[in-house]
Amino acid sequence: MADQTHHYDVLIVGTGNAACSAALAALEKTSRVGMLEKAPQRGRGGNSSLTVVMRFVFNGIEDLRPLVRNFSEAEMRPLLESLPHRTEAELWDEIMRVTNNQSDQEMLQVHVTESLKTVHWLTSKGHDWSPATIRDDNVVTMNGGGPGLQKRNFAILEKAGVAFHYETAATELIQDEKGRVTGVRALTPTGFAKFCSNSVVLACGSFESNPEMRARYLGPGWDLVRLRGVPFNTGDGLRMAMDIGAMPHGSWTTCHASPQDINLPAFTVPSAHSLRDSLTRYMYPWGIMVNTNGERFVDEAWDTRGRTYASMGRAILAQPGGIAYQILDAKIRKMNLYTPNYQSATTARANTLEKLAEELDLNVARFVKTVTEFNAAVQPGAYNPDRHKLDGKRTAGITPPKSNYALEMDEPPFEAFPVRCGMTFTFGGLKIDPKTAQVQHVAGRPIPGLYAAGEMAGGLWVGNYASGSGMMAGATFGRIAGTHAAIAALNS
Ligand SMILES: Cc1cc2nc3c(=O)[nH]c(=O)nc-3n(C[C@H](O)[C@H](O)[C@H](O)COP(=O)(O)OP(=O)(O)OC[C@H]3O[C@@H](n4cnc5c(N)ncnc54)[C@H](O)[C@@H]3O)c2cc1C
Repeated sequence: MADQTHHYDVLIVGTGNAACSAALAALEKTSRVGMLEKAPQRGRGGNSSLTVVMRFVFNGIEDLRPLVRNFSEAEMRPLLESLPHRTEAELWDEIMRVTNNQSDQEMLQVHVTESLKTVHWLTSKGHDWSPATIRDDNVVTMNGGGPGLQKRNFAILEKAGVAFHYETAATELIQDEKGRVTGVRALTPTGFAKFCSNSVVLACGSFESNPEMRARYLGPGWDLVRLRGVPFNTGDGLRMAMDIGAMPHGSWTTCHASPQDINLPAFTVPSAHSLRDSLTRYMYPWGIMVNTNGERFVDEAWDTRGRTYASMGRAILAQPGGIAYQILDAKIRKMNLYTPNYQSATTARANTLEKLAEELDLNVARFVKTVTEFNAAVQPGAYNPDRHKLDGKRTAGITPPKSNYALEMDEPPFEAFPVRCGMTFTFGGLKIDPKTAQVQHVAGRPIPGLYAAGEMAGGLWVGNYASGSGMMAGATFGRIAGTHAAIAALNS
């Protein structure tokens, strides 16, 4: 049977936040927008549908008020006391700090200067925001988190007449004689189909769901790691683009991976997900982490939680068996620091360190020695477990140190939470022109008709990441990609 054929001005591959933002922007110029999604409709929305926050610039309450019109100043004030602003300079410094100054500066410049504008633009499209909860790293977040954002996106795009093609996996880019990308070949439930378009936006994630690529680029052990997100982001867009000469960019050997409950399933799809039951285990800054030898292996608080958690998965994966235990004492419960999702956490509890070690099947003497040495190393100073600020209360004379929030572990009952590494997304992507999101060829010139956004655009994240940044980058560069893809389509 011959290929079926569809025609659009702008064709977008993926239905995550980057893809939906691209579609919203393209619709400002043309109504002939099509979207391809590998997942069935009930699994649409990508990792974006599993998220909580966006990290963006705001200079004070004035920038936030238009986003949270339904909330009073009194509801906002306690949040602003902890984080009164995140200026462009502050966001730039944060990302440079977590990436060890290796973030692509041209990309970062656009990310930083466009973030607040993009959030206000999303609001103008029908999105709304709410004050952040205690587990967030921001003051204001998408109303309903990623599921809420994506639900609104689909409602807006469907109403505008965007054509969605589900269970349709893009497999190949189509080019004309001049090298212009003129569409995509895709596998549909009834066979291959041709989707012709004047421009294509690739927004179909990185390669985090592909064990072969994880092993190839991230190294041994990463092939078997469990996913926090969808099983669909298998690097197809990267492969298709590189097959026609697109330039890879950014860090292909590092990724975002964080501590998760030991019972993390192999993957999660949006329809099976509830933010309330999230398996994230991000209480480690308030305690210590030990491996199965009963030894600490990482500085649990070298920076704030939002700037360390994406690197902690790698540290845990490197431990024997790829697992670790978060240990906390009763003071943390008394201070009410536990996030609600720890209510359903896998846990062990005991009134002595010895009993806890027995419960966990750890070498009792080694574990007790670790905690005793840790307690003796804690330096005097004011303890302040503020998730946005470091308190400088640290240990001295032990390796690894704990650089902030160091409190003696001496009040029973002691609790342990077994954790494993959960893969969030990989950092390797394509080189884009940050001002247009157009994909660059290895020959050093743009590929006509081809744009990329979201995880597919490499360069911003290297080695580590700051929470809420993936969604912000997806929306920012998705908007840019959709705008420029539509302009190019109409001028072609
Ligand atoms: C559990 C979890 C929580 C997270 N929390 C946050 C958070 O709070 N804040 C934050 O900023 N970031 C968070 N992240 C990271 C965030 O999800 C990503 O940075 C962001 O969603 C990337 O958006 P995207 O549009 O590029 O990719 P995605 O949202 O993953 O979308 C990619 C889409 O492409 C589709 N696709 C893949 N291949 C093909 C193909 N061949 N053809 C057609 N379609 C295809 C996929 O099915 C998917 O729908 C979280 C990630 C996870 C897994």
